[in-house]
Amino acid sequence: MFQRSIIVIGAGVIGASVAFRLARGGAKVTVIEAGNAGGGTSSNTFAWVNAHDKSPRGYHDLNIAGMAAHRLLAEELDGGWYHVSGCLEWRGPAGRDAHVANVGRLLGWGYDARWITADEAVRLVPSIDPAAIGDAPVALFPEEGWIDTSSYVRGLLAAATALGATVVTKTRVIGAAWAGQKVVGVRTENGTSYPADMVVNCMGRWADDPVLPEMLRIPMDPSYGLLVYVRAPDVRLDRVLFTPRCHIRPDPSGRILVCRNDAIHALGPDAVIHAAMPEATDLIGEASRVIPALASAKADEVRLGIRAIPADGLPAVGPVPGIDGYYVAIMHSGVTLAPAIGSMVAAELLDAGPEAALAGFRPDRLLSPDIAQA
Ligand SMILES: Cc1cc2nc3c(=O)[nH]c(=O)nc-3n(C[C@H](O)[C@H](O)[C@H](O)COP(=O)(O)OP(=O)(O)OC[C@H]3O[C@@H](n4cnc5c(N)ncnc54)[C@H](O)[C@@H]3O)c2cc1C
Repeated sequence: MFQRSIIVIGAGVIGASVAFRLARGGAKVTVIEAGNAGGGTSSNTFAWVNAHDKSPRGYHDLNIAGMAAHRLLAEELDGGWYHVSGCLEWRGPAGRDAHVANVGRLLGWGYDARWITADEAVRLVPSIDPAAIGDAPVALFPEEGWIDTSSYVRGLLAAATALGATVVTKTRVIGAAWAGQKVVGVRTENGTSYPADMVVNCMGRWADDPVLPEMLRIPMDPSYGLLVYVRAPDVRLDRVLFTPRCHIRPDPSGRILVCRNDAIHALGPDAVIHAAMPEATDLIGEASRVIPALASAKADEVRLGIRAIPADGLPAVGPVPGIDGYYVAIMHSGVTLAPAIGSMVAAELLDAGPEAALAGFRPDRLLSPDIAQA
């Protein structure tokens, strides 16, 4: 039987998910990763699994598919990476109307959400200062959770490898091999050529890297987010908190992760990131207004994440018009979406036909026709 040979560029949550499903579907898979597996945005993320405030409806539904796929995959591979912890959300005065409207919309769509009192919130998470909630309405989202992304990437790549996939790390792809308008493989910086029937770009934030010719790049609008890890052994926290001051969750390292998931920091790739930086201290200060026991905590580690956001904010998943042998899978909210995207991409590439759920997310909407024809 003909075995399709497929190269996956990038071993983040998306590349690992695509590689696993392709290998399970019978393809001969080679993953090529510039750094360490899972070392890109997938290890510098808040990793909250949710379909919480995602619009339009098709994007919400795709995230719902991601949440469902996480449950199934964690059972299938016995993965301990998925923590269905639930999430508590409240907002400040300026955001309350939008919060109430969003929860109403989610309930209308059948999403598992419920209003709880501040007392109930504090019963669920006793370390919260009730004054931080005040009279704000609090929503509980019981089905949401978070992922240990390192364990996820490791688990999926191990499963893919057991099915015959090859994972090559510390090897940057620096170009494509062509036969006319068809991509027939990639070249790497160490001078090796890898032939393939299909190349899948799972390069995340680097999907517009000039190492690719212009017609293979996805226009991106990346932004930066700061992640502050705090050691606070006295604080018991087993849920995601989405508060107007910051976002907080437990971390598999035993530390607490504090982030502004929605914030865009004026830090660039050259920013010097260190535990004593004022932005980290400020973020811990905000967190201590929610959990007073964090008041004396110091940053144990600070990371800068780069969001892999295609130019219009929505995922870009599918072939590039006019180019055979090439497919892209680039998105923000990739932690939530990864297992569903892995299955959908593999189904499309292994000839199951177009996935209806991806119809609104094709890359052609982002590409100038001139570039595709070039
Ligand atoms: C601050 C922050 C908070 C976030 N919070 C959430 C959240 O709460 N929930 C959620 O669902 N999502 C969240 N995200 C988004 C999510 O983390 C990303 O969408 C996801 O990690 C992207 O995964 P990926 O596999 O596409 O990219 P990556 O993990 O970046 O993987 C891409 C890989 O491609 C490799 N690569 C790049 N160029 C080359 C090349 N030329 N050759 C070979 N390899 C190459 C890179 O080294 C990298 O390892 C957040 C992101 C940030 C930054």
